[in-house]
Amino acid sequence: MFVRFALNADLHFSRELPPEAVEAVAKTVQEANTTLFRRGVPAEATEEQIGKITRWSADGSVVSLKIESGPYTRAHDALFRFRRSIVRAMGRHRLGLRDIRITAFRVLLPDELPDAAIPKVPFITTVHRLPGAVELELDCSASDLENRVPDRIVRLIEEKKEALSYGGKVEHWELVFESGAKPRVYSGNPTEEMLARGWIRHGASRGQWIYAPQAVQLFRALEKIVIDEIVTPLGFSEMIFPKLVPWEVWMRSGHAKGVYPEIYYVCTPKTRDPAYWEEIADYFKVTGKVPVEQIRERLDGPIGGMCYAQCPPFWPFVQGETLANDSLPVLVFDRSGTSHRYESGGIHGIERVDEFHRIEILWLGTAEQTIETADRLHEAYVRVFEDLLDLEWRSAKVTPWFMAQEGMVGGSGSAEVGTRDYEAYLPYSDSWLEFQNVSVNGNKYPKGFNVKIQSGADCWSGCSGIGLERWTAAFLAQKGFDLSKWPEAVARLVGEPKEVFRFL
Ligand code: ATP
Ligand code: ZN
Ligand code: MG
Repeated sequence: MFVRFALNADLHFSRELPPEAVEAVAKTVQEANTTLFRRGVPAEATEEQIGKITRWSADGSVVSLKIESGPYTRAHDALFRFRRSIVRAMGRHRLGLRDIRITAFRVLLPDELPDAAIPKVPFITTVHRLPGAVELELDCSASDLENRVPDRIVRLIEEKKEALSYGGKVEHWELVFESGAKPRVYSGNPTEEMLARGWIRHGASRGQWIYAPQAVQLFRALEKIVIDEIVTPLGFSEMIFPKLVPWEVWMRSGHAKGVYPEIYYVCTPKTRDPAYWEEIADYFKVTGKVPVEQIRERLDGPIGGMCYAQCPPFWPFVQGETLANDSLPVLVFDRSGTSHRYESGGIHGIERVDEFHRIEILWLGTAEQTIETADRLHEAYVRVFEDLLDLEWRSAKVTPWFMAQEGMVGGSGSAEVGTRDYEAYLPYSDSWLEFQNVSVNGNKYPKGFNVKIQSGADCWSGCSGIGLERWTAAFLAQKGFDLSKWPEAVARLVGEPKEVFRFL
């Protein structure tokens, strides 16, 4: 069994069709069914798998068509192929095509799909359950069909069905490297101890910390290790990526497919005319309260959200460009601002927060260059975690849901695409914390942002996100707060914690 499409369409012409034009329609339909619709169809395709005009009629100025297909020259593709030839044929009779109206569109999926696999999108008007199949009726305009809405719906249903079969598991996990046990010198919860020592205090917003000088000394020491031991020796150059990300970027990066529950959304004022906002300001002056509902009415957007993954807003820098061979691999990084995620009830200590600080390393080049860079980064990380930080850590290959869904992993030639998570042991909770990762993203971003390479080779990219809160949590959870027990290099870089605040 295979997926089937069926549509009814009315083609509206500029005037009534004279008999000789009706004859020309018959001829065009005949040609379409025997040659036009068969172009590009594999030889092994059977008769009923290929698009066909199964019924047509001409009434006044309207030609009505019924087109049915299986997976080849799908009914809607057939319609637009036919449009080209009918426009040419009717032109000879001085008839112009004015409009195409889709009066019915049905998709038959040969599968008893769970309800959860059928998306709630406006185009699906009816779902019929048949023995061993589901039939969808779609309400689509001709331009929806040109935009391939039916194909996208079929693909989405396949993705949802597959995601359901994962049973809620987000990632496939496979151990790659293990440092082995390290001596245990501390078993406390680092967040609690940092709080007790006045190194951090809760910010006013949820999942947000204010870091005092002592904490920042450690942050900057870890950051310096990243810069001096990893980023600089490997030849990465610093850039500054935007931190407000509009939909256009997430549409191209693929995040628009699913990031919604975790976004911090951003809105703009409808106008910056002070008079428009005077009421709001006055309300606050009189009541001491901010009238949030009235503010909402005066906003446009959301236009996008705050930085979520750090690399997508870099890509407009290279969008539409062809990279010179001798500039590759391009190696850059960003540490210019915060990332924001709505973690809801998942907030925990400094390791899972809504506002965090991350160094994002990003590289692009050929597939070989991209993989080699990931390998060199991995070697540098091993050196830092083993020799400098002396951590108990491990790394694992993980396959995120979106890549599994896009079939990017496991396919031929894509064995190296995927993410490696780095995890540190937390003695206080006897659990492992992902503190950074390295991803080889294949051609996902270059394709989304239309980036090419001079030689014509496929452009690939990779990225690595180093979470400073997570590095700090991992380090303190294992090494504790007695600086004399810290690895020498870290203790030296941090120096004596500065007690700037004294509270009465
Ligand atoms: P988790 O599974 O722990 O939620 P994630 O898979 O969502 O992590 P990524 O999207 O891979 O994380 O983000 C890359 C890095 O960003 C992480 O390794 C971590 O260092 C950091 N990071 C992500 N989310 C947070 C957070 N809520 N708080 C602090 N750091 C974070
Ligand atoms: Zn990234
Ligand atoms: Mg997460």
